[in-house]
Amino acid sequence: MKHTCPHCGKQSISSWAKFNSSSLHPAICPSCQGHAKQHWASHPLEDIFYVIGMPGILLWSFLVESWWPIIITVLFLTVISTLKFRYVPMVAVDLSLAKKQHWFAFGCLLVVFIWVVSDAIGK
Ligand SMILES: [Zn+2]
Repeated sequence: MKHTCPHCGKQSISSWAKFNSSSLHPAICPSCQGHAKQHWASHPLEDIFYVIGMPGILLWSFLVESWWPIIITVLFLTVISTLKFRYVPMVAVDLSLAKKQHWFAFGCLLVVFIWVVSDAIGK
């Protein structure tokens, strides 16, 4: 099974390349050498499910003293993510933008690290 390249529109990207793709490690289209990655954006209903549904299912599982609600949820999420992997098209990657975003995230982590260390030393 091949996936559609967002640059040239050909079904040229392998499932393994799509599975491993990210913004810093994109899949490279064999026919046009374009960079692409999986589209991770979610539907608002999914976000509502993760925020409200997940704690609800954990509480339900706790109240009925059974693992079944959690097992069914894991199976359901596996099916949903498989369908999304198959049917959600890939998106183009801007490597320079991705590098800037990762350096920004690294800088934020560094600030938090310095803050925690200085807090630990100060006491
Ligand atoms: Zn292409």
